[in-house]
Amino acid sequence: MKKGRSAVITGNWKMYKTIEEAVSFVETLSPLIADSQVQVYLAVPFTAIYPAAEKVQGLKSPIVIGAQNMNDASEGAFTGEIAAKMLIDAGAKFVILGHSERRHQYGETNELVNKKVKRAISDGLQPVLCIGESESQKEKNETEQVLRTQILESLEGVERDKLSAIILAYEPVWAIGTGKVADPQDVEKEHRLCRSIIAEKWGDDIAQQVIIQYGGSVKPENASELLDIEDVDGLLVGGASLSPQSFSEIINICKGKLQ
Ligand code: PEP
Repeated sequence: MKKGRSAVITGNWKMYKTIEEAVSFVETLSPLIADSQVQVYLAVPFTAIYPAAEKVQGLKSPIVIGAQNMNDASEGAFTGEIAAKMLIDAGAKFVILGHSERRHQYGETNELVNKKVKRAISDGLQPVLCIGESESQKEKNETEQVLRTQILESLEGVERDKLSAIILAYEPVWAIGTGKVADPQDVEKEHRLCRSIIAEKWGDDIAQQVIIQYGGSVKPENASELLDIEDVDGLLVGGASLSPQSFSEIINICKGKLQ
């Protein structure tokens, strides 16, 4: 982590937790992370956005509630889909876009992710844009090319003054939900690369402001080592964000680095 850049820890609950479980989680988590300078984001299932956001407001908790996906259109005949303005209406402040589970299980391309990024920004949601190479791409030494293409194509046409509000999450696909965390030296290299790709295209001033999170099997046991890396400005946490105890431990490890 680097002094001067905010630290953001995002929890991604995927398709877990009912409304009751989500509200009770927020109640339990809030006192465990009190007085933290760390920005805590929770990407909850659609059904839990409204009640979780209400609970956060009632508790005056700093937790920020968001979504895990959205449609790129403003509205329309798209059965089963959800629009950015509906998420905002329910209390979401951010949205995860381009998660590898969406890219690989639902065929989302950089082109579609780019449309979603632009829609989120124009309608007022902060995108948390996920990128990362697969195991076979890593084995073929294609990581640099994959990250370059994902960043440039997913952010194509985004106005320069909107870029610094985007959170980038580097998540090697083979590390997500597998228990295999990436080697800290590789994380350092790939985060530096991501920042340099942004700098080349949009300038170093923008690149220095963008928050770049690492994601992939983050746990309380490995969070400290990852957060010690200069270009890691936070973490995107899946499995370990489902328990208030492990999630608060990770947040408090991050808090310790800011002091
Ligand atoms: C994720 O959902 O983006 C993720 C990184 O999951 P996990 O922490 O479980 O690997």
